Amino acid sequence: MFTGTLKVKLIEAVDLKLTDFQLRHNVGLVGKLIKNTMDPYVFVDIDEVHVHRTTTKQKTFCPSWNEMFESEVQSGTNLGLTVFHDAAIPPDDFVANYSMSFDELIDITKDQNSDIWVNLEPQGKLHVVVDLKQDVCNSNNEETSELKELQGSNRRSRDMRRRVHQVNGHKFMATLLRQPTFCSHCQKFIWGFGKQGYQCQVCTRVVHKRCHELVVPRCPGIKDATSEESATGQRFSSNMSHHFVKHTYFRCTYCNHCGSLIYGLIKQGLKCKACNMNVHKRCEKNAANSCHINTNVITETH
Ligand SMILES: [Zn+2]
Ligand SMILES: [Zn+2]
Ligand SMILES: [Zn+2]
Ligand SMILES: [Zn+2]
Repeated sequence: MFTGTLKVKLIEAVDLKLTDFQLRHNVGLVGKLIKNTMDPYVFVDIDEVHVHRTTTKQKTFCPSWNEMFESEVQSGTNLGLTVFHDAAIPPDDFVANYSMSFDELIDITKDQNSDIWVNLEPQGKLHVVVDLKQDVCNSNNEETSELKELQGSNRRSRDMRRRVHQVNGHKFMATLLRQPTFCSHCQKFIWGFGKQGYQCQVCTRVVHKRCHELVVPRCPGIKDATSEESATGQRFSSNMSHHFVKHTYFRCTYCNHCGSLIYGLIKQGLKCKACNMNVHKRCEKNAANSCHINTNVITETH
């Protein structure tokens, strides 16, 4: 918990990359990348209440901002830094994020080491200078917490529409589904209009809002701190690997990973010889390590 003044200088980011979610929407009919660039900005929140947004930098994967902001914090527990791509048509695309507890921050900055590089997820690094000035007199009375609540709810309704829900490494965001989609968790159709689906911005998995907290397989796009082979590019090898082979579907079939239709005439997708899971070719790498986890995979759909 932190009460006091937070000063952050957002210096630069390096190694930003388009997420699989973005790549999917940036590919034209002939499978070529239409736009291989982004216009990034950083969105800062404290306990999911928006406190700052940097300017947008044009067409770059290594933006430099050098922008400073200051914020009074009342009993803050978590600082969130999220990089978004400033899209021409909203909503803006998620690029990468990092969240850190104030306890951690206080620890890091205690010995004058306030100039830090944080590892963003799923990729990239962010260079920040953090200055924390803790309030000496603990003003934790009811009046201030009420005030915080008031400010919080006002800001929340205005600025946190693009919330990232993190479960098992996945970074789910409410997404407008433009085509019929099945939930990869419960395998039921996602009904309704508007933002009905939760899609992981890293691996493109789509689930119901009500199912997103139940997703068990870890997001394959997030490096696992415990397994070092992730650094060598073997992040998808595991004994849970599927045995995908090219398959020609004669009936309407949906991808069991991202939930949308597998289209085309022949060899449209891949079918696992072991568990019968069906996926798009583009979804293979993201579905790769979940064989037999999903025991109720449907083979053909109505
Ligand atoms: Zn994911
Ligand atoms: Zn579901
Ligand atoms: Zn399988
Ligand atoms: Zn798919």
